[in-house]
Amino acid sequence: MTASTTRWFPNSMPAPIVDHHTLPWWQACAEHKLTAQRCTHCNHAQIPPAPICSECHGNSFEMTELSGKGTLYTYTAVYQPIAMEQTLPFFIAIVELDVSGTSCANSVRLMTNMVDCEESELQIGKPVQVAWESMSQYVSIPRFRFC
Ligand SMILES: [Zn+2]
Repeated sequence: MTASTTRWFPNSMPAPIVDHHTLPWWQACAEHKLTAQRCTHCNHAQIPPAPICSECHGNSFEMTELSGKGTLYTYTAVYQPIAMEQTLPFFIAIVELDVSGTSCANSVRLMTNMVDCEESELQIGKPVQVAWESMSQYVSIPRFRFC
């Protein structure tokens, strides 16, 4: 992990809730690796990781590293702070992640934040790239910026 990274959100943001299904995903995030849970039976990819495959109901998985590239699927601009010292507006987005070059059978969408952009620049379908924000030694959050 890099010693310092750009910060877009304050330390007062609520921490992610982690359970034993999502822990491998968050551990990969801490190493700045974006992954999807891939079913070893049908190759269906899903985020967040879950106890069963939403496609075939299998329960055997591998974590597959993704490129960190994708496209902006949709977004909203938020003008109400959810944490102290929150910069406004901030952008909640759903990014459709690129799974080319993996064994994943489907693309997968991730709820995230767009950063380093103005509201007027937000355009559905534009290519995006992951931008890691280290909130602590153990927690890094995947945000996205335009390529
Ligand atoms: Zn499956």
